[in-house]
Amino acid sequence: MLDPVPEHYASPEGKARLMERIRESVAPRWVLSRRQLCDLELLLNGAFHPLDTFLGEEDHARVVAEGRLANGTLWPLPVTLDVPEEFAGRLDLGGLLELCDPEGIPLAVLEVTGKYRPDRQEEAQRVFGTLDPVHPAVRHLLEATHPVYLTGRLTGLAPPPHYDFRHLRLGPNELRARFRTLGWRRIIAFQTRNPLHRAHFELTFRAAREREANLLIHPSVGMTRPGDVDAYTRIRCYQKVLAHYPSSTTLLALLPLAMRMGGPREVLLHMIIRRNCGATDLIVGRDHAGPGRDSGGQPFYPPYAAREAALAHAGEIGIGVVAFDEMVYAPRRGEYLPVDELAPGEESLSLSGTELRRRLALGLEIPEWFSFPEVIAELRKSLPPLARRGLTVFLTGLSGAGKSTLAHALAEKLLEQGGRPVTLLDGDLVRRTLSSELGFSREHRDLHIRRLGFVAAEISKSGGCAICAPIAPYARTREEVREMVESRGGGFVEIHISTPLSVCEGRDRKGLYARARAGLIPDFTGVSDPYEAPLHPDLAIDTTELTPEEACQQIMLKLEHLGYIGGEVAS
Ligand code: ADP
Ligand code: ADP
Repeated sequence: MLDPVPEHYASPEGKARLMERIRESVAPRWVLSRRQLCDLELLLNGAFHPLDTFLGEEDHARVVAEGRLANGTLWPLPVTLDVPEEFAGRLDLGGLLELCDPEGIPLAVLEVTGKYRPDRQEEAQRVFGTLDPVHPAVRHLLEATHPVYLTGRLTGLAPPPHYDFRHLRLGPNELRARFRTLGWRRIIAFQTRNPLHRAHFELTFRAAREREANLLIHPSVGMTRPGDVDAYTRIRCYQKVLAHYPSSTTLLALLPLAMRMGGPREVLLHMIIRRNCGATDLIVGRDHAGPGRDSGGQPFYPPYAAREAALAHAGEIGIGVVAFDEMVYAPRRGEYLPVDELAPGEESLSLSGTELRRRLALGLEIPEWFSFPEVIAELRKSLPPLARRGLTVFLTGLSGAGKSTLAHALAEKLLEQGGRPVTLLDGDLVRRTLSSELGFSREHRDLHIRRLGFVAAEISKSGGCAICAPIAPYARTREEVREMVESRGGGFVEIHISTPLSVCEGRDRKGLYARARAGLIPDFTGVSDPYEAPLHPDLAIDTTELTPEEACQQIMLKLEHLGYIGGEVAS
């Protein structure tokens, strides 16, 4: 049962031969995206066994339609290598393609035997059951996936390098070897993308004790749901919780999986991976790998859809399912138990992830029954109260609306208060520096805002405050900046300086409107180029009747209201 699974790395001689062929044929290189990098690692190390390469056209079609490879083997989710049209056009069938990490280190070689253009709408609809872009995988498919998928023989040159938590990065064969050495025969795996709190601890502990099994805590640390607690923090939390299990019963290992949040489809992939890692069972609770709620506020999948799918396919996959109900805290008994074991009418307590985040953001007390003090302390270090987190204040509006003036005023007010370093990213300033070669076409405006957003995101990630004051006329691009900032853990506050065009034009501080009206400046925002006003800004300020001091005060009050300044709270 614990024989190795096939890995797909070249032998040293094979690697030398491949490298020579690459050099001779001047093979093109593809820099893998984060998700492709995660998939590659699991293809090469056998976690995705029997899949040994990115899906070809026939396999892809049947996986999408039925969750099976063309030969009938169960395979629930597309694992694909997408590239842009022009890049695909330069590839010859039968030729080699070097796959590199973002630093340019070659990790694998694909002997390209197929390229095809999938119907990504159909892929989204059939695999994830929806076209709603609130679903992270659907959004990725429809907005961030290149149109051509590649397949071929895949050979690994080197595992993707990891320098963090090395001792916890155990692949399927390392896990199997470890279990053999330890003499573990029944191994229950636990998949998670969240920090472990007492409820999870009790659940896993109970699952193992009742079945006289050992435990593998096997969190996904590749890509998880946007907005999740970052993996480094989670791993430090897992290490703390590990100390609470009876010694030598439990192993922690990291799984570099890019989750799709595919609920009933994804749970089957989780089972295949854990089977390959040598586990005998997987714990599956409520809403496993759930993407949350759709744009209409309804859950994407029924709460037990994944569990039913898991139970239905357990035999075929070759791993058991430990079905668990939600664990709740029963204060009268002072212990956790599955929700269905409560007496009728008995009081129970639980705390949602959203509520935990709110409490961390405001520095409020987190009850002892909910989590271990060491875990809470770790979370508080990474997620301090909002007043101590990095922040981007994004002012958008027409030329002359008052953005620069207010950005300056706000910067000085915040510096007067102290607390965070403040950086001003005025549109004109960034155009003179980072974006000096760009003009005012839609593409150039977007590029300019993405650059500015990138800098703002890095500043807020490091705990600073970036105040941005570009026109930023396009809603979608502003949204991208928000995502960049929030995905790195910064707060994002959008302020529409909504001074009407007539007032901006009346001010005409730089004489630009007059020149635009005279046709001397083409594509001038508000005159001959669009401005998409924010639909739901955190604050809208029309400066027509306000002094800069008054307008700035409104922003300060909003930041205070949102918790980003003032009110030093206990932590
Ligand atoms: P933008 O950066 O949006 O192009 P500026 O800040 O450069 O705009 O110009 C705004 C002009 O409006 C300045 O001349 C400023 O003095 C004037 N103004 C009048 N009232 C206000 C206010 N309440 N807030 C900001 N600017 C104001
Ligand atoms: P955007 O977000 O559209 O790139 P920025 O605020 O970064 O806008 O740059 C706009 C600044 O460039 C304006 O403040 C104005 O001084 C100047 N400008 C020059 N030509 C134009 C134009 N065609 N449209 C808008 N602003 C222009």
